[in-house]
Amino acid sequence: MDIVEEYLKAGTNKGLYYGGAFQKSFGEQSIVVRNPATSEVFTTVPDAVENDVDAAVFAARAGYEIWSKIDAIDRAQYLRRFADIIAKNIPKLALLETLVTGRSIKEMRAQMARIPEWIEYFAGIAMGLEGESNVVKGGYVTITHYESLGPVALLTPWNHPILILVKKMAAALAAGNTCVIKPSELAPVSPLVLAALATQAGLPNGVVNVVTGGPVTGAALCGAEDIHYIDLTGGTATGRKVAAQAGERLVRSTMELGGKTPIIICEDTDLEGAIAGTLFAAFVASGQTCVSGARFIVHETIYDRFTKDLAARADAITIGDPMADETQMGPVISMASQDRCTRMIAQAKADGAVQISGLEPAILQAPFDKGFFIRPTIFKDVKPHHKLFLEEVFGPVISVTPYKNETEALRLANTGNFGLGVSIWSQDIARAHRLSLGVRGGVVWLNDHHRNDPRSVWGGVRDSGFGKENGWDALKAYMTKKSVIVRTAPGHDDWFAGSTRYG
Ligand code: NAD
Repeated sequence: MDIVEEYLKAGTNKGLYYGGAFQKSFGEQSIVVRNPATSEVFTTVPDAVENDVDAAVFAARAGYEIWSKIDAIDRAQYLRRFADIIAKNIPKLALLETLVTGRSIKEMRAQMARIPEWIEYFAGIAMGLEGESNVVKGGYVTITHYESLGPVALLTPWNHPILILVKKMAAALAAGNTCVIKPSELAPVSPLVLAALATQAGLPNGVVNVVTGGPVTGAALCGAEDIHYIDLTGGTATGRKVAAQAGERLVRSTMELGGKTPIIICEDTDLEGAIAGTLFAAFVASGQTCVSGARFIVHETIYDRFTKDLAARADAITIGDPMADETQMGPVISMASQDRCTRMIAQAKADGAVQISGLEPAILQAPFDKGFFIRPTIFKDVKPHHKLFLEEVFGPVISVTPYKNETEALRLANTGNFGLGVSIWSQDIARAHRLSLGVRGGVVWLNDHHRNDPRSVWGGVRDSGFGKENGWDALKAYMTKKSVIVRTAPGHDDWFAGSTRYG
């Protein structure tokens, strides 16, 4: 049976995936995966133990011995076949993502449609990777060329299980590495399916491997001796632990971590466009993206009108069955996430902020009455010391704060220690650029939000992490540059017999 269809059936658990096949875990425990729209159990996956991790890394080493020796031009052909198989499966993969994450099917169809681009892009630029040569002082030519690293670990979150994985995997594989993936315990199904599709596309066994499990499995993978790069997308607290482990092992790493994205709305903005764009920024994915527009900073002269119109649009968002075409927003991922949102709402009220949307509770028909739904919730008059202004909610609960001038807008935007996404809305191009120069962040959008492309470099600063996804930076991060220094000067030197040439 078709592997995606098999996993679309509730209860399918074929085990871990490594060495080109599904494998039974050495452990006895499994992890329950729920459909967040109903809270019902969708399936289980193995909770991989250290022996499983070792076996997967061993398979990745065997795969590496083949994959790394294939020329980049030929590797690109394999990767394009992989992209084609994914493209053919987009409708089914969208269903699978929706079942496990609760994200609306409209969103998942749009997101899945772009997945093949990342694989095609990295396959393409890897073919164009050129080394350098320099004629240097003293009769030498220095040649540099790029080498892959070996098996690498990819640790991913649940909010975009396929997109975030493919961003990492495409760069890692195009560079000639093999990977062991540790997907989120909340959404581990589609990564298993992708690994099986990679084998169907003809990628050698051991190139794409998946171990499912939680933090213990992840830590075992990061500690495995034959892992030579660690790429994590996750929360900041996880990033601190994983980066420390990478540092201890002297393994290079990328940390794509949390954020608390400010949105600056200037008085000269196109109000209708800004409301439409920032509604998307705040509530797409039920507010569960690392760059979700979380802190609106709005000029005082348009504050009342902006907050009123934004609240009205937020209250009109249709929530419910994520599989239904008309649904605009699904649930949050888990009961723990729902509780965190509820606590943050109570805290914002206690702090004196004013709730202007999401005042009515979400009333849904069975079985969605058991789902983890939170209505789009907006608080205005949030102060910079409030918890809602400072902490990542990772749900559809946002804050709005007025500002008087650009200095104050930047001070508010730069409050706290995150530095990931920012968006600035103004029709004055000089002002928008000026603000972009003063704001802390790794990705700044002017008059838009959340746009992502394989060529747009992505990554944060400070508590939002380090390292880049997308672009040449991501490909080169997965490689090391080797210098070969060739003597072209005639004869030879004999230092200990009196030669004075040095360096
Ligand atoms: P998480 O930190 O709980 O988990 C991320 C992954 O790390 C999971 O696979 C998890 O099992 C694993 N993990 C957890 N502890 C580990 C440990 N000690 N050692 C090894 N692995 C470990 O994050 P999440 O809840 O899945 O995702 C939400 C977070 O991810 C949010 O903070 C969000 O902002 C962030 N995020 C960042 C980006 C970005 O591009 N910067 C994108 C998406 C999500």
